[in-house]
Amino acid sequence: MSAENNVASDEALSLLNKVFGHPDFRGAQREIVEHVAAGGDALVLMPTGGGKSLCYQLPALLRRGTALVVSPLIALMQDQVDALRQLGVRAALINSTLDADAVAATERALRKGEIDLLYCAPERLVMPRMLAALEDADLALFAIDEAHCVSQWGHDFRPEYLQLSLLHERFPQVPRIALTATADPQTRAEIIRRLGLGEARVFVSSFDRPNILYTIVDKQDARAQLLRFIRAAHAGEVGIVYCLSRRKVDETAAWLAGQGVRALPYHAGMPAEARAENQARFQREDGIVMVATIAFGMGIDKPDVRFVAHLDLPKSIEGYYQETGRAGRDGAPADAWMTYGLGDVVQQRRMIEQSEGGEDYRRVSAAKLEALLGLCETADCRRVRLLAYFGEQAGPCGNCDTCLEPPETWDATEAARKALSCIYRTGQRFGAGHLIDVLRGRATERVSNYGHDGLAVFGLGAELDEAGWRGVFRQLIALGYARPDHEAFGALRLTEASRPVLKGEQRIELRRAAPRKAKPATRQRAAWAGAASPAEAALLERLKAWRAGQAREQSVPAYVIFHDSTLAALAVTRPSDLGALSAIDGIGARKLERYGPQLLELLRG
Ligand code: ADP
Ligand code: ZN
Repeated sequence: MSAENNVASDEALSLLNKVFGHPDFRGAQREIVEHVAAGGDALVLMPTGGGKSLCYQLPALLRRGTALVVSPLIALMQDQVDALRQLGVRAALINSTLDADAVAATERALRKGEIDLLYCAPERLVMPRMLAALEDADLALFAIDEAHCVSQWGHDFRPEYLQLSLLHERFPQVPRIALTATADPQTRAEIIRRLGLGEARVFVSSFDRPNILYTIVDKQDARAQLLRFIRAAHAGEVGIVYCLSRRKVDETAAWLAGQGVRALPYHAGMPAEARAENQARFQREDGIVMVATIAFGMGIDKPDVRFVAHLDLPKSIEGYYQETGRAGRDGAPADAWMTYGLGDVVQQRRMIEQSEGGEDYRRVSAAKLEALLGLCETADCRRVRLLAYFGEQAGPCGNCDTCLEPPETWDATEAARKALSCIYRTGQRFGAGHLIDVLRGRATERVSNYGHDGLAVFGLGAELDEAGWRGVFRQLIALGYARPDHEAFGALRLTEASRPVLKGEQRIELRRAAPRKAKPATRQRAAWAGAASPAEAALLERLKAWRAGQAREQSVPAYVIFHDSTLAALAVTRPSDLGALSAIDGIGARKLERYGPQLLELLRG
């Protein structure tokens, strides 16, 4: 490294400490910042919460002139600008929410070099008037956020992004950094091609999210399980609950609200204003739980989402990972929690079989579902599975349910034989509910009508209860020994793979259903939550109340004042002077000056 680079590096670190209040770089940030600050082009692939913003914000401060940030997330621009202004950075925005006077004023400031970072919507950027203003300005760099929006095959495609290649043509000397959290190789290639980034250095970070604790529980009474989970681990905290259908979203949100959880619904069937209102409340207020379909997706930029819960099975590991990735962007411990049961498997299979897509589509979808079911049923580390899916190798993580409490497995060979033979003996025409009645020897009307109480399998399965048998059927389907037939209303049929099991030639090992627990596995939690002692918990509450007051007064979201993790660190370490305060992650020079005295007072009290 040259002497000059060392200087740049020292300066970058000192700005990181002073302006952002972070003690150190994370992952590849330092390398990326140095590369871009030195005038290089970059493509940055980093998971959500990895810390992409700093990769352009710091070079913007290190280089002369204004950095232009292109982002499709108009609803969030103001918050991003507010957050930077809190740090003393000269940030501004131009988008369709501004009136003509405000735009003109910002353009003047741009020409005069009074802006460090200018956020701009893509459709605005490519207008002749904006380009003319840029010609007159001194430009530090272009940052293209959510760069996967150039991909015509992705679900976030924005046609205006295709025009961004003109930046390179008009301003060849200005470095560009494109950023995305979308990991797959096709999207990466498309970004490089469409934005002319062939010469750019590509930085690929690990897609691991170590602070997220993955838990997948057997579905019993999903709502009640969800409520227990929220009360035990996340009372009063921000979360997202994903459901498959709009109706379930509405019902779940109303039910949670009735139980005292501050829950709001969000789905594409709601009137646009109501939807926007709920999103704005989620973004700005503290402690809202958003119950949503996957329509609630890109544009969620809340760093302090403490949990993402799934009441229904997503379609694929990609979907699951993207949705759960919205938890814990601030790096503090967060939960990804899902209930999953027999009905989910049956429902997803049905959706695939009944989809309009062609044969190829169905095959690909089935394979994706298979991989996800593998994740649900595994008795090994969830994270190892997840990362392997994205081509990364890892060892057992110690921060997922199976690592924290390894599930028991049991020799289910006999039970599997009974279940499969029950399917066979009843003519492969019945769903799991009826089959379980037969196995458990319940002479229901239906069972008697079909004469199934006279079968050899009737009453053969008394050793397992209803839930136990559901677990067996679910796993047999997930593992491919049986499949629901949707032409026949979900009747279970045997597959080729069931033969050796029926003949007693193959052993089957299944997961035992975990005992029902009120408290989810949470090893990391105690280390940070600040609620270790009642005194700390009380102090944390006071700090949050103070933060809420500041946020209201300044009309900014609470996290723009301080992140949860910063408040938690304050409550635990109780700094007693300004020097000790400034050592806390998230307290830079400007916030120290502005809030330091008040914080010290609160901490003393
Ligand atoms: P992304 O855009 O990649 O999802 P952000 O840039 O929003 O992520 O950063 C996620 C969170 O991590 C933010 O709360 C940010 O303050 C925090 N963060 C980023 N870099 C650092 C760092 N070097 N030290 C501590 N916190 C950081
Ligand atoms: Zn693990």
